[in-house]
Amino acid sequence: MRRLVSVAVPVPGLDLLTYRIPDGLDTPVVGARVLVPLGTRRVTGVVVRHEEAAATTERTPPTLKDVIDVFDAAPFVPAGVVDLGLWVADYYACGPGEAIAAAMPPFAWVESEWRVRITAAGAERAADHRDATRRALRDTILALLDGQAWTPLRSIAYRLEHLTPGRRGRALPARAAVRALQSDGLVDVDDVLEGQASAFKTVRVAQITVAGSSAAAGSDLVGPKQRQALALLADAPAGLPVAHLRERGVSDDVLQRLSGRGFVSIRRDATDRDPFETAVLPPEAEGEMGADRTLTAEQAAACERLRGLAAGRRFAAALLHGVTGSGKTEIYLRLAGDVCQQGRTALVLVPEIGLTPALAAAFRQRFGDRVAIQHSGLSDGERHDQWQKIRRGTVSVVVGTRSAVFAPLQSLGLVVVDEEHDGSYKQEETPRYHGRDVAVMRAKREDALAVLGSATPSLESYQNASSGRYELLTLDRRVFDRPMADVTVVDMRDEFAARGPDVVLSQPLAEAIGARLTRAEQVLLLLNRRGFATAVFCRQCAGTVECPNCSVSLTVHGSSRGAMRAHCHYCNYSMTVPATCPSCAAPYLVQSGFGTERVEQEVLAAFPGARIARLDRDAIRRRGAAVSLLGRFGRGEIDVLVGTQMIAKGHDFPRVTLVGVVSADVGLGLADFRASERTFQLLTQVVGRAGRGEQPGAAIIQTLYPDHYSIRHARCQDYRAFFHDELAFRRAMHYPPQVALTSGIVRAGSIANAMTDAGAIVRALRDAARDGRFQVLGPAPAPFVKLRGEHRAQFFLKGRNRTAMRDAIHRALDALPEFGRRVAIDVDPMTVL
Ligand code: ADP
Ligand code: ZN
Repeated sequence: MRRLVSVAVPVPGLDLLTYRIPDGLDTPVVGARVLVPLGTRRVTGVVVRHEEAAATTERTPPTLKDVIDVFDAAPFVPAGVVDLGLWVADYYACGPGEAIAAAMPPFAWVESEWRVRITAAGAERAADHRDATRRALRDTILALLDGQAWTPLRSIAYRLEHLTPGRRGRALPARAAVRALQSDGLVDVDDVLEGQASAFKTVRVAQITVAGSSAAAGSDLVGPKQRQALALLADAPAGLPVAHLRERGVSDDVLQRLSGRGFVSIRRDATDRDPFETAVLPPEAEGEMGADRTLTAEQAAACERLRGLAAGRRFAAALLHGVTGSGKTEIYLRLAGDVCQQGRTALVLVPEIGLTPALAAAFRQRFGDRVAIQHSGLSDGERHDQWQKIRRGTVSVVVGTRSAVFAPLQSLGLVVVDEEHDGSYKQEETPRYHGRDVAVMRAKREDALAVLGSATPSLESYQNASSGRYELLTLDRRVFDRPMADVTVVDMRDEFAARGPDVVLSQPLAEAIGARLTRAEQVLLLLNRRGFATAVFCRQCAGTVECPNCSVSLTVHGSSRGAMRAHCHYCNYSMTVPATCPSCAAPYLVQSGFGTERVEQEVLAAFPGARIARLDRDAIRRRGAAVSLLGRFGRGEIDVLVGTQMIAKGHDFPRVTLVGVVSADVGLGLADFRASERTFQLLTQVVGRAGRGEQPGAAIIQTLYPDHYSIRHARCQDYRAFFHDELAFRRAMHYPPQVALTSGIVRAGSIANAMTDAGAIVRALRDAARDGRFQVLGPAPAPFVKLRGEHRAQFFLKGRNRTAMRDAIHRALDALPEFGRRVAIDVDPMTVL
């Protein structure tokens, strides 16, 4: 009887593969990593299940390949996380290997590659055949290798494909031919494995030996430097890190000599890289987060209810709707504490740790080393170490971004998703999962409590709470009964009429900033658009300067050297701002629209003495820059912080008493069904940054649409009124959460081809939709019809029957494998642009 396993390999779009376990290898457990052959390569995969060997014997083709090696005796990825990965692959219509790869730490994959080099005998043969008109495959390969250093098999296969177009896509003959050449002694083959199964950072530790101890005890055999080193080491019988000794004046040279004489032994110890050293913690974030402070009445009530749910040890989901500054973090901390006390673990998801270091710091302070953090801002090494630490079970709480939802925690009791409405929970590349929704699914599978927290819940979550699927807990008041910020809306049409169309800071906003500066209070200024000017347009032909690769206009940015350049925000293209119009050559180009850089400049001009800084993606390219900037703002070293939505994230800066929204309209005009929701959330969140300390806060919102319901309700910070109006809009338009939505984008070299291919998929989907269980819309050119040189066509599925939609997509894609990676399916998209 044959032993078979299904293996997920991290190759885009590839389904599970079945391999045989050869005699001599133990059957690997589910979750173990195995090395398997795939084409000409050997790759790491994860065992996802054992196949019923008896049942498959007859239909399994004899060509089934053998597993080459088994890396792990115990599951590397816990079986529960493997299952979660398979659910993600099914729900989000991607390959199981791609989904499980999202659950793997860095350095978990080992890959192999053949490298080939011609031998002297091979070179001789190549010389003999140099002038032949028709060559056998083997001689073609020799000719390719002649005079070359080690060449990867992959590039040999690639070049053969291009020399002989008929062979396209068939790599195996190259491998077979190389093997034959090798056995004739015409080439050497080297099989290298890249990566390692374990990648701990090691430190060198010096330890004194018995001989060293007696040498230290007195003889004159050693010189003064060596004696000093031995004295240090004699005091530390377990050894001292070499780096440590170096700091105390013991050179590597001295250690080398001591070790040469047998007085000292040097070993390598694995250590954990600690991300808290580099990634978290403005020092203010610590202090006064005592576990003993009194909860507000609302906090206490919510805590009580959630504790009850957690104690049930059965799945439950709750939405914690608490206004900005109502103290949601404290509730998470207490719940996590409870769960840990019961010997279970907690997972806390946050949108972006780099921008909200205070939350991670609060957990660190309360739970010490029992907290691990996982986010993409860590180095691969740090991430690897944190992952292993979680896997070893020495961690009770994981705080992390989206991908931490797959953290290898055991006996999970609590999953928190803070700021659950935040768009960054959605991964915008395959696998396109939503961290919040996967978190709820994980809680469900592991009988844990899921708590989603926000001051501005997503329509989906609030709908789930209204319908009773989630428990709803509300905090309507801020801690210490601090008032919500007082919001004024400035109608910019009046400002433009009075002071011209170039006004950036209205009179009321400028005055309010000035008042804060004289009182030494702080100001946040939001404009959710980067750059200096948002377009360059021609006054003669009215065209704008577009990116050659994308259907978007270029944004003007200043550089550190002062020169202005036009950049594309979608690809890496940039150019000097042209002097004449690229389409009509007229010299009448003007810049229009403005972004954060321009706001920064305007504030500088209006308030020359003020300390001003900018927080947006351009300003924080350097690692750690965001944390350091926020730290400076927290310490009061900056008066005015200008920024994009980054400044609206859960920050708690008590000295901020004014928030200015330079334009509330940036996202409102977008043809996206979430445009109003995102605007309301952004405004409410940023307004919520004001007045969190002793002094009450104020906010000023500049807009051209003061009557739009997003702005009206944000002004009163009235979530429920907004939800009511927005839900009516979604119902009328048949958008989520009224129906489930899936979008598809097909990319091709021309829009005609993209439309044709999208048409083929849509036909297959319409066939499946004939019974009316869902609707298929499109294809149509996507709103960004060209991105990074590729043309894009779009289609949608809408309906209430998710299973039917999912099955139809899986079937349509399976039937059209030639489209492969050119189709991007987005289930529950955050944006349809
Ligand atoms: P939210 O996330 O709901 O906007 P935070 O969790 O950031 O609010 O809390 C706002 C501020 O109130 C923080 O500085 C926090 O330390 C403080 N805080 C929370 N709960 C209490 C409490 N019970 N007593 C005193 N201060 C509290
Ligand atoms: Zn571009």
